[in-house]
Amino acid sequence: MAATKTQAFVLKTQDYRDTSLLAYFYTRDYGKIHGIIRGIRDGRERYGSTLEPFSLNEILFYRRRRGGDLHQVTQVELLEPFFGVREDLERVSYASYFVDLLNQLVEVEDPHPPIFDLLSDLLWFLQTGASCRRGARIYEIKLFELLGFMPEIRSCVACRTPSPDPAYFDTALGGILCGHCRSSRDGASLSLSKGTLHFLDHVRNSAVRDLLGVKVSEGVGKELERVLRRFVDFYLSNKLKSVVFLEKMGF
Ligand SMILES: [Zn+2]
Repeated sequence: MAATKTQAFVLKTQDYRDTSLLAYFYTRDYGKIHGIIRGIRDGRERYGSTLEPFSLNEILFYRRRRGGDLHQVTQVELLEPFFGVREDLERVSYASYFVDLLNQLVEVEDPHPPIFDLLSDLLWFLQTGASCRRGARIYEIKLFELLGFMPEIRSCVACRTPSPDPAYFDTALGGILCGHCRSSRDGASLSLSKGTLHFLDHVRNSAVRDLLGVKVSEGVGKELERVLRRFVDFYLSNKLKSVVFLEKMGF
């Protein structure tokens, strides 16, 4: 077995047997991996991290060649705890949502370094004290784009009319409909303003660092949240606990 060192965000942990921990990581080089850290719960001083969710660590793990995808993690070293996020309940809640959503949407061991960088950028974004909601919308749009889930927003998905106005978002069809096509279909759709469509397109085509100062009106922000959340719900069979918490707290 070869030992491998890589940078890893903690997505989730759960107790495993008496003293061990099962951790889900998102790594830069291997994508999502599952690992067992033996004895960490009764000998934390042997390890350089307590593996808090969304902390960045350097881990050493032994890749299993056969018998599943659960690896042995023998060293963990904390690189960035994001204390500035942890000291604020709203920021912690959004950071938890970021790792929760990623954990649900990515397959095991399907590496995608731009997704690792996106999570890193957005956690730093929260750490600077910027708007959590704006960060969440940027994260969702970029993540959907990187995973190939991004809805069609440039033309009607049914008749291909470019830039329809008004435009309606249809989750099941994965894109927008013009007024004519919408009226001939059953099912719920959300109307989308020009401002919302423009923001979606702008985020898709811009680097995260160029979006940190972008302004969003309250109306567009609300519409984006509604449409992106509906989209997330459509992809996931169960509502994320972190989303339930965000909604309950009114964050
Ligand atoms: Zn149409």
